[in-house]
Amino acid sequence: MFGFIKKSLQKTAEAIRSVVPNKADSFSKEEIEEILLESDVEYDLVEEIIRSIDASRVNRPTLRNRLLATFSDAPKQVDGAKPFVDLIIGVNGAGKTTTIAKLASHYKNEGKKVILGAGDTFRAAAIEQLSLWATKLDLPIIATKQGHDSSAVAYDTIDSAKARGFDHAIIDTAGRLHTQVNLANELKKIVRICDKAQSGAPHRKILIIDGTQGNSAIEQAKAFDDMVGVSGIIITKLDGTAKGGSVFSISSKLKLPIYFIGVGEGENDLVKFDKEEFVDSLLDAIYN
Ligand code: GDP
Repeated sequence: MFGFIKKSLQKTAEAIRSVVPNKADSFSKEEIEEILLESDVEYDLVEEIIRSIDASRVNRPTLRNRLLATFSDAPKQVDGAKPFVDLIIGVNGAGKTTTIAKLASHYKNEGKKVILGAGDTFRAAAIEQLSLWATKLDLPIIATKQGHDSSAVAYDTIDSAKARGFDHAIIDTAGRLHTQVNLANELKKIVRICDKAQSGAPHRKILIIDGTQGNSAIEQAKAFDDMVGVSGIIITKLDGTAKGGSVFSISSKLKLPIYFIGVGEGENDLVKFDKEEFVDSLLDAIYN
């Protein structure tokens, strides 16, 4: 998989070139400030990074340390849960459905048995789209008609996974309902029902964030975190954006681990997030 992260940062690297046309061994603080802002690292975080550096010239190891410090590590995964239940949340269009397919494919490639739950019962298109992926990936799916109870879908998905000895259940949720309060109530109910179906589930509540939205995704993410408490995030569409630096602000503001990043529309375009590889790829665009 090496190289995918670098590819996903290509546009960000081009944006950096517009600020500093040539790579060098060190840069002034002002130049680093401009580089970071150009790659869409949020202003407050840029200032914090700049303030924390004593030297007047900034070399690669110094910036590397500062950037790595913005990431939160994922806590150790709950071992032994079978099925291991991932609840997928986020606004419509962020890439939830596609990411579910990618995640399922990732587990499948590890030899695991996966079942999907079409929990976004608010939109008929969401159910159809996930069903199409299930057919394409040859995976079982639990789905009902539009308007049916989404927590019943979650319950049935986990129940079926238990009965059939599956390793993973991945459950979709609505990204929008008539009101924000409705959405919060529905998500809370799904979480409760998952735990009823299997004590401890969902094991991860994964928030899908559209990377092309840059920092504006942060407020959205906070709202979901307030509703159900997010375990970690997957940032999508990093292949098409020059806002790669927003990954730092999203991570540092939300204090949440990044599990994967999405780098395309196919089922294999999901890359495990490696903070060192990410930072080094960005630094390669700046330093000699
Ligand atoms: P949902 O409404 O949250 O379920 O979003 P979808 O999964 O339907 O994705 C919305 C659009 O974004 C679709 O056209 C996807 O193909 C596209 N998409 C999702 N993830 C990625 C990604 O990592 N890279 C790119 N380039 N497109 C993506």
